[in-house]
Amino acid sequence: MPAKQPFTLLCQQLARGAKIGRADLHLHTTASDGAYTPVEVVDLARRCGLSAIAITDHDTFAGVAVAQAVACTSLEVITGVEITCDYHGRELHLIGYFVDPEYQPLVQALNRIRKGRVNRFTDMVERLRQQGVTVRVDGLVSQSLGRRHLAELLVQQGRAGSVREAFQRWLRDGASCCVPKLRLDVQRAIQLVREAGGVAVWAHPTYHSQTRQELRELASWGLGGVEVEYPDTVRAQRQRMTELACEFGLAISGGSDCHGPGKRAIGCATISDEQLARLRGGACSAPYTRRSSKA
Ligand code: AMP
Ligand code: ZN
Ligand code: FE
Ligand code: FE
Repeated sequence: MPAKQPFTLLCQQLARGAKIGRADLHLHTTASDGAYTPVEVVDLARRCGLSAIAITDHDTFAGVAVAQAVACTSLEVITGVEITCDYHGRELHLIGYFVDPEYQPLVQALNRIRKGRVNRFTDMVERLRQQGVTVRVDGLVSQSLGRRHLAELLVQQGRAGSVREAFQRWLRDGASCCVPKLRLDVQRAIQLVREAGGVAVWAHPTYHSQTRQELRELASWGLGGVEVEYPDTVRAQRQRMTELACEFGLAISGGSDCHGPGKRAIGCATISDEQLARLRGGACSAPYTRRSSKA
């Protein structure tokens, strides 16, 4: 590899400096639809100077243990999961942090959602076939199948020129071959996260209308935080969410939602150590711990 130019090195150091002591709490791995393995995620997070990360794969904890093992003491790896939920008939993503990944009611609920993902994948392949687009599905290893996997197969097998094109033609929301996922009622999901000793956070709320009323309702069900720091959000959106979080006593979370190389790089959206401590405090104050729920 050629030696790095001084300017490149300087840029890297400056970028790293900005992230020291900060936490990226929204990261996907190959356990769901991310491109980096858990080991690669930890390596990249370490290189950019982060002090903590959370692995938040869709509906699975499968990437967490290996990331924690490889990170050892160099970096905190928080147990997380991004749960596919239903909120008044719409898809909402709820992230559970600091949860016990062995808490069986949560594990079983995630197993059901993932089984739904497998059935949905088969349905999407069938819809494609009906449109004259055949795709072979051998070689898939992810624990949590999604549209990205299908888009990648379409590209590999020469049916689409790019993942973007595959989404545009068949898989984007509302497109002919996009099938909705099985969703867990968000109130139940919040309850399960809390029973598992964790804190429940509303992921990328700017995808929704994020009214005061919605946040009030979710907070009344036990929501502990809201994801304010997120790529592509503008300052005014972050400010408004911060004010609402304050009004309802919610912690602030944030992360890159990195799925691999590209725009949402690891560390591009982060929270401070103080904000992380506040989020962690929410987890500790959860009323139903695993032990007390068994008592
Ligand atoms: P799924 O969980 O199977 O519904 O897939 C959601 C994933 O598909 C997310 O990671 C999105 O980033 C990606 N996605 C959704 N819509 C599009 C789109 N129009 N173009 C590219 N990727 C998309
Ligand atoms: Zn994803
Ligand atoms: Fe999401
Ligand atoms: Fe995500």
